[in-house]
Amino acid sequence: MYRQQKLKRLLEGICPRGVKEREPLSPYTTIRIGGRADWLIEPKNISEIKQLLETARAENIPWFVLGRGSNLLVSDRGLRGMVFHLSTPRPPITIKGFKNGQHLLEVEAGFPLSKLVRFGIENRLRGLEFLAGIPGSMGGAWAMNAGSYGKEIKEITAYLIILSSEGRMIRKGKKELGFAYRSLKLEPGEVILSGGIKLSSGEAESIQKETLKLWSQRRAAQPLNRLSCGSVFKNPPGDFAGRLIEKTGLKGVQRGGAQISSRHANFIVNQGGARAADVLYLMNLIRARVREQSGVLLEPEVRLWGCSLKEI
Ligand SMILES: Cc1cc2nc3c(=O)[nH]c(=O)nc-3n(C[C@H](O)[C@H](O)[C@H](O)COP(=O)(O)OP(=O)(O)OC[C@H]3O[C@@H](n4cnc5c(N)ncnc54)[C@H](O)[C@@H]3O)c2cc1C
Repeated sequence: MYRQQKLKRLLEGICPRGVKEREPLSPYTTIRIGGRADWLIEPKNISEIKQLLETARAENIPWFVLGRGSNLLVSDRGLRGMVFHLSTPRPPITIKGFKNGQHLLEVEAGFPLSKLVRFGIENRLRGLEFLAGIPGSMGGAWAMNAGSYGKEIKEITAYLIILSSEGRMIRKGKKELGFAYRSLKLEPGEVILSGGIKLSSGEAESIQKETLKLWSQRRAAQPLNRLSCGSVFKNPPGDFAGRLIEKTGLKGVQRGGAQISSRHANFIVNQGGARAADVLYLMNLIRARVREQSGVLLEPEVRLWGCSLKEI
């Protein structure tokens, strides 16, 4: 108890008004699932993040970085440790220059992709259209190498500014960044603070048209009006997880408040009151059936916090 109070004083000293104790995490995720975090902290600047990392290290407390929670499944038991919810310092976007026909913009990690896409249209900047409808933050998009319709965020990324777990700011150019399909190699405890993206000029009307086209395709294929965490499994090489799941006939199967979407087999939706245990049950069922039927072991795309899948 004494340790908890001491820690509370320490954390509130670093982030006045930004510390929440025993905070439920479900409202911070798009699937609205998850128990309480010991600490949910909203640092306002780099200095606060640095001090928080120092405290976590000194007190030997695990920490997690939360973006907009659109690719997360958090355990019903919640998380022991600190969850850093990054806000967006002002200005969220800095124009750095124009070279070889391309604009270089630096964007803060907490900035929502939806706002960046709108910024692109308003400023006649081409290259962000494929991000329309992905409900994450820039930090989350970099950490996941988010992508759609054959494009990934790595393609427009020039560099990232990363805070190491020891509190050092590192600038990593594209070649040093380990982007792969739906992942970026980060050292344990590293936090992406911001990054540079390269965009070309275009006509507002054609950028808007392309954005709307991709958005409509997404709306037709995905259950966007339901609570979800996006695609649950990664596509295996040369195939689609959705196709393999559909083949098993599991579309529409429910467990508790969770359902394998009848719109898109690679989505699990929260129909109300779903628990992480329900989603994990369905994920285990899907993996077992796909393995049995197609010989493919699906790997989760959604990040599991405080919970895990069965070994098969
Ligand atoms: C309806 C729907 C549709 C989706 N469609 C797509 C799609 O088409 N393509 C696609 O790729 N994804 C899609 N997603 C998944 C998700 O939106 C993306 O992965 C998104 O980039 C995650 O961003 P986030 O801010 O929500 O990250 P979170 O879910 O908060 O976090 C995801 C991971 O990123 C890490 N992270 C977040 N911010 C940082 C940071 N600053 N530094 C270090 N690590 C960080 C977290 O620790 C965690 O491991 C979809 C999700 C939904 C709900």
